[in-house]
Amino acid sequence: MVRYSGFGFLSDFGIRISAFFSRPSAVTRHPKMILDVVTYGHPALRQRGARIEKVTLEIKKLVADMFETMHTNHGIGLAAQQVGKALQLAVFDVREAKDRPSWLELDGKPAPVDDFMPLVLINPEIKPGGEPVAGGEGCLSFPEIFAEITRPESVDVKALNQKGKPVEFRCGGLLARAIQHEVDHLNGILFIDRMSRKTKEELRPELDELQAKTKAELESAGNR
Ligand SMILES: [Zn+2]
Repeated sequence: MVRYSGFGFLSDFGIRISAFFSRPSAVTRHPKMILDVVTYGHPALRQRGARIEKVTLEIKKLVADMFETMHTNHGIGLAAQQVGKALQLAVFDVREAKDRPSWLELDGKPAPVDDFMPLVLINPEIKPGGEPVAGGEGCLSFPEIFAEITRPESVDVKALNQKGKPVEFRCGGLLARAIQHEVDHLNGILFIDRMSRKTKEELRPELDELQAKTKAELESAGNR
């Protein structure tokens, strides 16, 4: 299997960002936790996330823990389903993915992507646009599995941020790909559902093995 170099969901470029975590926040009195990322075969990955009606302290803590978990695992995007919570919440940080550019527009004007990182999207609604483009993807819930996925180049995003305030922007490139990948997670859709039949067939032995391993682990945890 070809390893697509430089791809960010599982990055090959060693993301480690500490600046965000040095900022004071409402949750600093709680130690941040690295959460377990659930893998293919875990039922949470097929659950549609519930809307978040209020950004409570509990949600803020979850957001901080999801960033900690994503950065530790060298990811650029993480959905709540991947830490076993079926909620409409995903976090992103594409700053270190210099070899896979992103762009962003606010009110029709170009804006620096880095100014929006790290990014939290709550209850996101997206409208993809532009030409379909193929690009390499990985997923923290599918360790060591990479594939080419075709998705629209850009996306219009409406969501709430970590403060519960509405945000609206258009983006493209890697960020648009990451957002489409994570919003799929929020609806119980996985990147294997977006692969060509041929690619999925080629990956079948690895996918079956991963699914069986996850199920065996769940079973043994349940019997403990
Ligand atoms: Zn994923």
